[in-house]
Amino acid sequence: MMPETLHTMHAVLFDLDNTLIDTERIKELLFLAAQEAGISKEDAQETYRRTRDVNNQMTFTLAHYAQALGKPELEDAFRAALQKEKETLLYKEAKQLLEACRDANIPAHVITLGVLEWQKEKIMLTGVAALVPERNWHSTDAGNAADGKARLIRAIIGKENDGAGYLFVNDKPDETAEILRMFSGLRALVYADARDARYTDPSFDALRTEFGARVDIEKRIV
Ligand SMILES: [Mg+2]
Repeated sequence: MMPETLHTMHAVLFDLDNTLIDTERIKELLFLAAQEAGISKEDAQETYRRTRDVNNQMTFTLAHYAQALGKPELEDAFRAALQKEKETLLYKEAKQLLEACRDANIPAHVITLGVLEWQKEKIMLTGVAALVPERNWHSTDAGNAADGKARLIRAIIGKENDGAGYLFVNDKPDETAEILRMFSGLRALVYADARDARYTDPSFDALRTEFGARVDIEKRIV
């Protein structure tokens, strides 16, 4: 994101998982903690997938996951494992952008998909809480963009607003495209993570082709 573009913004709306914070790493740490308690990696991963959502409605919390693994006492072990690594979980470039917003007095919001309790826990753990005030934390458990994030954006920017002057920062190209179609003035910054096998260069090229200058794509440096 060019600093001069940032200064023209009313507010910046950040996705949380895989945009501000390294959610893949968080998952790895949970799987490792489960393995230390004698659960196989496959079980840990499969149970994660089952507890993540039910029919596209987000349901994941540490307590729920520990219970689903049959070891409720693991909830504390998960929390301890994440605490130990918390300094490494906020992406450097995302942190810099949050700091740039703070320094320029541009409100930053977090709009995130997941159970509020778990999303809040990650916001506090990773240090996002120090850069985004709690009144600007917004969460939805509805997995599709129209019912979920688009509603949160609408609530922030207000009715009859096409999103001009707002920047949406995200990681998923397909979800970003869906949201940019709904708000014709909105701009987006998308972090492209080479480790994320779900998305390849063509999905980012498609974003560029459809939205041109409304989209910036930054390769994630890890
Ligand atoms: Mg994300």
